[in-house]
Amino acid sequence: MLNSSLQQLGSALRAKKISSVELTQLYLDRIAALNPALNAYITTHAETSLAQARAADARLSGGTAQALTGIPIAQKDIFCAKGWRTTCGSKMLENFVAPYDAHVIGQFNSAGAVNLGKTNMDEFAMGSSNETSYFGAVKNPWDQNAVPGGSSGGSACAVAARLCAAATGTDTGGSIRQPAALCGISGLKPTYGTVSRYGMIAFASSLDQAGPMARSAEDLALLLNTMAGFDERDSTSLQRDKEDYARDLSKPLTGLRIGLPKEFFAEGLSSDVGKAVETAIAEYKKLGASIVEISLPNSKLSVPVYYVLAPAEASSNLSRFDGVRYGYRAPDYTDLADMYEKSRAQGFGAEVKRRIMIGTYVLSHGYYDAYYLQAQKIRRLIAQDFTDAFKQCDIIIGPTSPSTAFKLGEKGDDPVQMYLSDIYTIAVNLAGLPGMSIPCGFGAANMPVGLQIIGNYFAEAHMLNAAHQYQLATDWHVRTPNGI
Ligand code: GLN
Repeated sequence: MLNSSLQQLGSALRAKKISSVELTQLYLDRIAALNPALNAYITTHAETSLAQARAADARLSGGTAQALTGIPIAQKDIFCAKGWRTTCGSKMLENFVAPYDAHVIGQFNSAGAVNLGKTNMDEFAMGSSNETSYFGAVKNPWDQNAVPGGSSGGSACAVAARLCAAATGTDTGGSIRQPAALCGISGLKPTYGTVSRYGMIAFASSLDQAGPMARSAEDLALLLNTMAGFDERDSTSLQRDKEDYARDLSKPLTGLRIGLPKEFFAEGLSSDVGKAVETAIAEYKKLGASIVEISLPNSKLSVPVYYVLAPAEASSNLSRFDGVRYGYRAPDYTDLADMYEKSRAQGFGAEVKRRIMIGTYVLSHGYYDAYYLQAQKIRRLIAQDFTDAFKQCDIIIGPTSPSTAFKLGEKGDDPVQMYLSDIYTIAVNLAGLPGMSIPCGFGAANMPVGLQIIGNYFAEAHMLNAAHQYQLATDWHVRTPNGI
């Protein structure tokens, strides 16, 4: 069961080979055994999960089951789920119990999926290693001295360690794709506006996008079918016809034009990752694709631009955590201003404070034009590079991350080194494009390598087709960590 695809699990449930209660219990037992070491989950609630499983079993018997009915899914702890503690990895929300469901959670509930628990993450999704979580770092199941990536590291770890059938993540600058790469799983960040942000705790609203994390492209398509769709409660949600993201999975890749951005294969890429990606490109040629060299000349500016814009938006979004309406409140204070100050000083961790300070600075009078406005202009140029590139190719391929998983603590004192982990992923968020990562081999010390696939706006079905055909020809995505 642990190695089954979501489709196989769905068939087994509908054929009564296993019940949702049994399947949920199987995962809960694994979580009880393995989570103390891996720390992938912040909160589990066996009774609530099992109650959902019982309801799913009734639905399976009643013949009203959908593709995901009865399947246990782990939810990143950034999504509000009614009655569940929702922490966003922060002391600020340590005891916050959400009074309503995020759109994503609502979609999974209506599909009859089981919420298996809330996964660990970098505090307010700020980080690339999961080390900024107030609830402690997550371990990479391939090497427990290494990071799982971030910020959706708990979800990536849970999928890789088979502590859930699949999971959700969010990606502001790479937080689905980079942990997927570092943990050897598949993850997809959809086109901005495809999945509603309602009830998803905001980091940088113009960049944040939720997406699925699973073992295969086929699973991602099923999950995205449930997650995507218009929602009037998010003003940036796109009003488009419902699509079946699995519709193109089985198409052959003959004639596919793959663009390789020369900037993604330059200095800074570690040789083991480069080699695995080269081998994947050779596989794509065998599958009938042709290769075009392209250029994304402004992509080198994406990290600096992101670290102006994302903190600017974060400084505004996080102003709501003031100790008044919800979240942490300092126990001792003299007056209102002192209460705000102490609550925020005690409730936020160091990385979150760094971002709030940068964001407040770049938005302040006198610096706004020099930093924020300039960054917005360069963001436009970065998006234009992709528009130009997609005149020559159908999809873009490259590494997801410049290296395989690094050791816990290795980049802790150097924020700039940490920020460079997302050098190949951030431009995609700035442009609002869809991007995904799939496993494509192993590098030094046998750690997984991720292949990034970038598509044009709304090309998810096409990207999933390219990923699925590669997964039919290779077996990297079904490998599992030793002893787990
Ligand atoms: N690592 C990036 C950051 O720290 C991206 C995080 C994300 O995508 N949520 O901001």
